[in-house]
Amino acid sequence: MLSTVRVAPLQRVSHGGSGPHRRSRSTAPWLRVLCWLLLCVTTTAWAEQSLVQGARVWTDPDKTRLVFETSAPIGHRLFPIDEPHRLVVDLDDARLMTELPKVDLSDALLVGLRSGPRGDHHLRVVLDLKQPVRAKSFVLSPNERYAHRLIIDLTPREGAVGRRVALPTFPGAMPGRVGSRGDAPPAFVVAIDAGHGGEDPGAIGAAGTKEKDVTLAIARELARLIDQEPGMRAVMIRDGDYYVGLRERIEIAHGHQADLFISIHADAFSNPRARGSSVYTLSHSGASSASAKWLAKRENRSDRFGGVEASNTSDLLETVLMDMTRNATLESSVDAAALVLTHLGRVNELHRSDVQRAGFVVLESPDIPSILVETAFISNPEEERRLRDRAHQRKLAQAIMAGVRVYARNYPARGVMVDTSPRGLREVVIHAGDTLSGIAQRYQVSLRALREHNGLKNDVIRVGQVLSIPEDS
Ligand SMILES: [Zn+2]
Repeated sequence: MLSTVRVAPLQRVSHGGSGPHRRSRSTAPWLRVLCWLLLCVTTTAWAEQSLVQGARVWTDPDKTRLVFETSAPIGHRLFPIDEPHRLVVDLDDARLMTELPKVDLSDALLVGLRSGPRGDHHLRVVLDLKQPVRAKSFVLSPNERYAHRLIIDLTPREGAVGRRVALPTFPGAMPGRVGSRGDAPPAFVVAIDAGHGGEDPGAIGAAGTKEKDVTLAIARELARLIDQEPGMRAVMIRDGDYYVGLRERIEIAHGHQADLFISIHADAFSNPRARGSSVYTLSHSGASSASAKWLAKRENRSDRFGGVEASNTSDLLETVLMDMTRNATLESSVDAAALVLTHLGRVNELHRSDVQRAGFVVLESPDIPSILVETAFISNPEEERRLRDRAHQRKLAQAIMAGVRVYARNYPARGVMVDTSPRGLREVVIHAGDTLSGIAQRYQVSLRALREHNGLKNDVIRVGQVLSIPEDS
C-alpha cells in the first residue's frame, strides 16, 4: 500500500492529472511543452555568482511581467508544474539580495512569489499561479538606468484576458479609417498615450515625481473629458503602471481605428529654470532645433528601459505607403498640434510658441495624425509641483481637449455628421499660402473683425498660427 501512495502522485503529474492511461507516453502535451521550454532557455554557465539586486512585477491587461535585475548575466531555466499551477524559475549561480515583490490582487495570473536556495550556489524562485500560463523569457543588457535584466512574460495558456483589440488588416489608404465599426455609431476616436510606464519611469523630478505617474493622471483626465464629449471616444494606450513598447502603442491605436493619437509627456532639462509646454509632430528629415532632436532621442530610449525584445518588429510600420498618405497625415498632425498648443498657451507658459518637429518613434504612425505634448518641465521644481496637482492636471487636460474639439470639427471621423457651414469652424490653422484677406473671405467675415478678434496689429500671419473666427460680422 505504501508504494502505491508513493507512486500515485508521480502518475498524476506525468499524465497531466486527468488524462486516461492509454494516452501515448511519448506525445503527452506536458512533455512537449517542457521540451519546448528547455530548448528556449539560456543554458550558459557563468563562473561569477550573480547577485539579484532587484525583482519587480508589472501587471498589464495582456500579460504579467516579472523582472530580475542582476549584477551579471544569468543562466536560467523555466518549467511549469500543475496542480496547483506553478512556474519554477531556476537561476544559476545566483543569490537573492532583495525582497521579492508583492503581487497585486488584481493580477489575473500571479498569486505570489517565493524563493529558496538550490544547492550551495543556485537560486530557485517559485511563481504561484491562478491559472496555467505560457512563459517567455529574454535578457536585456545594461543601460544608463539598469544593470542586467532577465524578463519573464507570462500570458494565459488558454484564451486571452487582454482588453486590447486585434489588429485589423492594414488599409494602406488615406488618413482616417477604412472599414466598418460594426453597429456602433461612428465616433471620433482619440488614442491617448500616457508616456513611459512600468520599468520606464521617464524623467524624475527633484521631489521624486515620476513622469510615468504624471502622464497617466493627465491621460486619464483627458480620456474622461473626451468620453463626455458627444461623438467622441477615448482609447487609453496604457491604463496602469506597465510598459508598452513604442511601436506597440501605434499598433494599439491602429487596432482601435483611432482618428488622432496624443502622446502625453513631461519635459526635463539640466537647467532647472527651463519651463513651459511644447507640442511636437514627427519629422522624417531632421528636427526643428537641436533641443528637439535631443528630446526625441531621450524619449526614444523608452524601449530600452521599458524592456522590448530586440526581435520585435512591426509589420504595420514596415508596410510601404505612398508618400502622399504620410504627407497628408503629417499635415493633419501639424494642425492638431497647433490647435492644442494654442489652447495650452492659455493655461500654461509655452516653452516654444511654434509646433516643434523631431523623430519621435511613437509618432511614426503612417495614417493616424499624431502629436506629442510635453505638458511642462518636471525638472523645474515649480512646474513639478503643479504637475502633481490634480487641479492643474485637469487644466492641462481641458486645454488639450479644447484643441482636440476644434480639430475634430475640422477633420471629422468618417461617417460622423458635423455642421460644415463656415460658422461651424470657429478656429482655423494657417497653412502655407494663406492670407488674412483670403481667410476673411472664406469665412465671410470682415477683415477688420478678423483682425480685431485675434488682436492682430497688421495682416502678417504665419504658418501654424491659429486664428479664431468671429461669430458676428
Ligand atoms: Zn517622456
